[in-house]
Amino acid sequence: MSAKIRLYVEHPLGQGQSVPLTREQAHYLFGVMRLSVGGQVALFNGQDGEWLAEVIEAGKRGGVLSCVEQSKPLQLPPDLWFLFGPIKKARTDFIVEKAAEMGAARIMPVQTEFTNSERIRQDRLQAHAVEATEQCGGTFVPEVADLQRLDRVLESWPEGRQLMFCDEAEVGSALRLAGNETDQPWAILIGPEGGFSERERARLAALPYSHVVSLGPRILRADTAAVAALTMWQQALGDWV
Ligand code: SAH
Repeated sequence: MSAKIRLYVEHPLGQGQSVPLTREQAHYLFGVMRLSVGGQVALFNGQDGEWLAEVIEAGKRGGVLSCVEQSKPLQLPPDLWFLFGPIKKARTDFIVEKAAEMGAARIMPVQTEFTNSERIRQDRLQAHAVEATEQCGGTFVPEVADLQRLDRVLESWPEGRQLMFCDEAEVGSALRLAGNETDQPWAILIGPEGGFSERERARLAALPYSHVVSLGPRILRADTAAVAALTMWQQALGDWV
């Protein structure tokens, strides 16, 4: 048995577990998707894998589903943080969506010297990560952190976590990921539209856990660079193998 509609819920999932729906979820399932009692939905909550569930009660303002069987175990992504300097709204949304699809475990907007935005809507970005996970068949939802200053993040950097520093100054160079340090936690860093300052570049390159890489012979926009970097990392060290 399989269900086409996937829904993220903040509720425990398990054999026979009933799951109450919020007003928005009920509207989506019964109003938009036209499901009724007996209809099937795939549920996940980021912890218990994916569960096939059946509609038990369907109302305008609410409803209840009941878990039938587990349809997928929980699949955790590799321990990869994705750090990026937020840019314009639509492109930042795109970056969060793609990072969730590409299997980042944690998405961290960081304020760099040339980052324009001082604020992000963390709740909206988190909702994008949830939607992307619903869409791509994932069972784990990456956390989107609030905006933090890059220098603060570096000050409290966890021991052992490697950093793939995508530096536009390396455009056209042959610096790529070596493909070692496979058992370590990692992070990717992409700069904002304005790129990195010389001071940031020097500091980042000097970090003992930093691996400076080039993303090829052309300067990519930050949103393109995000997808390219995640592809490169997943291919060399992640779960594409
Ligand atoms: N305004 C800058 C470019 C910034 S591109 C300039 O003209 O130099 C935005 C981010 O994408 C960069 O900070 C970097 O992290 C990444 N990026 C884009 N192209 C890249 C490349 N060829 N190699 C490495 N990183 C790249």
